[in-house]
Amino acid sequence: MAEPPIYAVALPVPLRKTFDYLAWDPLFPGPIALPGCRVQVSFGNQQLTGVITSVKQSSELPASQLKAILQLLDQQPLVPTEVLQLCQWTAHYYHHPLGDVLATALPVQLRQGAAARLVEESAWRLTDAGRHCSPAELARAPRQQELLAQLQALQTEAHHDALPLWHKDLLASGIKRPQLQALADKGLLQELQLSPAQLAADLPPLPPLREPHLPLNSEQQLALRQVEPGRFQCHLLYGTTGSGKTEVYLQAIDKVLAAGQQALVLIPEIGLTPQTLRRFQQRFQRPMAILHSGLNDSERQQAWLLAAQGLADIIIGTRSAIFTPLPRGGIIIVDEEHDGSFKQQDGLRYSARDLAAVRCQQLGIPLLLGSATPSLESYHNARSGRYQMLPLTQRAGGAQPPAMETIDIRGLPLQDGFSEPLLEHMRSHLQQGNQVLAFLNRRGYAPTLMCHDCGWMAQCPACDARLTVHQHPSHLHCHHCDYQRPLLQQCPNCRSYQLQPLGQGTERAEQRLQALFPDIPVVRVDRDTTRRKNAMEEIVSRVHQGEPCILLGTQMLAKGHHFPDVTLVAILDVDGGLFSTDFRGPERMGQLLLQVAGRAGRADKPGSVLIQTHLADHPLLQTLLHQGYSTYADILLQERQTASLPPFRYMALLRAESSRPENAHGALLQARQWLEQRPDSRELQCLGPLPAPMEKRNDRYRYQLQLQSPNRAHLHLALQQLIPQMDQSALAKRVRWSVDVDPQDMT
Ligand code: ADP
Ligand code: ZN
Ligand code: ZN
Repeated sequence: MAEPPIYAVALPVPLRKTFDYLAWDPLFPGPIALPGCRVQVSFGNQQLTGVITSVKQSSELPASQLKAILQLLDQQPLVPTEVLQLCQWTAHYYHHPLGDVLATALPVQLRQGAAARLVEESAWRLTDAGRHCSPAELARAPRQQELLAQLQALQTEAHHDALPLWHKDLLASGIKRPQLQALADKGLLQELQLSPAQLAADLPPLPPLREPHLPLNSEQQLALRQVEPGRFQCHLLYGTTGSGKTEVYLQAIDKVLAAGQQALVLIPEIGLTPQTLRRFQQRFQRPMAILHSGLNDSERQQAWLLAAQGLADIIIGTRSAIFTPLPRGGIIIVDEEHDGSFKQQDGLRYSARDLAAVRCQQLGIPLLLGSATPSLESYHNARSGRYQMLPLTQRAGGAQPPAMETIDIRGLPLQDGFSEPLLEHMRSHLQQGNQVLAFLNRRGYAPTLMCHDCGWMAQCPACDARLTVHQHPSHLHCHHCDYQRPLLQQCPNCRSYQLQPLGQGTERAEQRLQALFPDIPVVRVDRDTTRRKNAMEEIVSRVHQGEPCILLGTQMLAKGHHFPDVTLVAILDVDGGLFSTDFRGPERMGQLLLQVAGRAGRADKPGSVLIQTHLADHPLLQTLLHQGYSTYADILLQERQTASLPPFRYMALLRAESSRPENAHGALLQARQWLEQRPDSRELQCLGPLPAPMEKRNDRYRYQLQLQSPNRAHLHLALQQLIPQMDQSALAKRVRWSVDVDPQDMT
């Protein structure tokens, strides 16, 4: 008799291994469950949900020590082989426990063991009577009459008589249940409970497009022609804002849909880019699944299952959507590929953009990365021929790129950060009936509070950071650990009452602009004014009405939106970016500057950009403004090469933090000593342990050990050998440590 199978199960625990279990019923091992099925097991004294990763004939442990699976949760694998492989690759590459990778890949409820079932939802369908009833017959009930006409129009638009309309969609368009019920009482309308799967099965073939594609210009055509369904190739669609990248995405998606495949689109932050989303929805008449942080857990699970069951043709999501199962995956598109939000900064520190490349290679499908300001990594890959460069050099629709100039503010008086020449330009643009965008990448009222008499500054008690002054509501706030306290009236050091906010944030700039331009609305956009749901959309639609206004905000303004009536972009301060401690500082500064600049102008209203700086002659700034991003990126790449930095070196950061600095430092020092004892340690450079740029945060002291190698395999082998040592080390057990492969943020 064959031995009963052993199941290797990945569990959400911080151990870098899988755990062996016996079948759920030893007397009746039954059908063998496949990898990718979820199971309930006991682990220590808890019950956990895990995922079977392999089925084996034997275990290293004797059968008597193995526990049985408590319950099999899926008859069919919930995690398809392809996604399981992606998760295994991720766990290996980022040196992270597989169970935790799988937990990241699954929506919360599925991770906790919920049934993988699409729930039924309410929908409405016109009855035969309802389809043929003339709305005029309801003349005595005008609201019902209007509703009937509306529903009939919706069904005509959907090209299908008996197509059910989702209740939630009707609600969203302002229709209320009693109104629907009234029509149902007359026998004109019928309520149904449907799962999206049933709906899809009922759907007749629909024309895929709601509106026609735009005719492409020659560069767009060339780019689109390179994207071939069914062939792996990374493409970098490199074109300024407004050059028509999104139009290329839409038509590339059409190509794969025509081949019967699904498209996955990753975008940085959906809340900031409802316009992009709407363009996809307007173009395609295909089921879509949208995965973003604004969904509640069950909505998220629904969207995920729609994709996984192949019921959604287009999946749009943020970072973690890279793990969504795609039974018919045909293309992955990463919009604004340079955006920092594609890299997760805690726990599993993965890059969704990099995983997209891995996944496309596994699936043998194209990857389309798009940006006006590509990351130096992708730019380098495209320059060296690993990726295919697809340039779009013209603004589609004929708009001109903005003219960019500096204002040298050395010695000039500033009114809360605004110089007179800048205000002069703002005034003139506003007087001509245009809008102005003022960019200041610091929220709050002022970066700190200072005593005029003794120089004391408000410091966070838990961090090496100053407290930011906020006025609405009035308080002091640490943006690093969230510590808050009431605003002080008196200096704790010298008892003076001369406390003054130092420097400016958006709140203070807003106040000043309101005083300077009393007749012009000032619209502030930062994390504090956009916290409420739909706040950003409301701001955008207000600005789109086109009345003169000043749009003032942080980097949230750099993303996604286009403001056609803005003709002047005023940048208050760029100097910090040129002198960052992080080697990516200049890269980020350039990207941010061009992204903000690109928000403005249209064909008949070209934009101009003015940048206040104390460093007007700085060569990097001059290059960026007068020679463009490509030359800027080439120079930065040369500097990286000279300094042996990524992308010319592979890098990993070992971080440790502890309430006792000597422990954090000691654990990393020990790691370095281990690494240096390895026989081929010459291929690996260690830098550190050094205190992190912000040494103390949230009452913990933070240290880093930077590892670098010209050879990726070598770096990974070293980490692979180091980590089990760290896991065993008594010193490392006393600190919080983590590995960050390809770190993006060195703070
Ligand atoms: P990007 O994504 O690069 O910012 P978009 O695709 O949003 O650029 O295009 C910018 C504007 O130009 C949009 O209003 C779009 O409708 C228009 N556009 C794009 N491609 C074309 C084209 N081939 N012909 C005419 N207008 C176009
Ligand atoms: Zn004082
Ligand atoms: Zn703090």
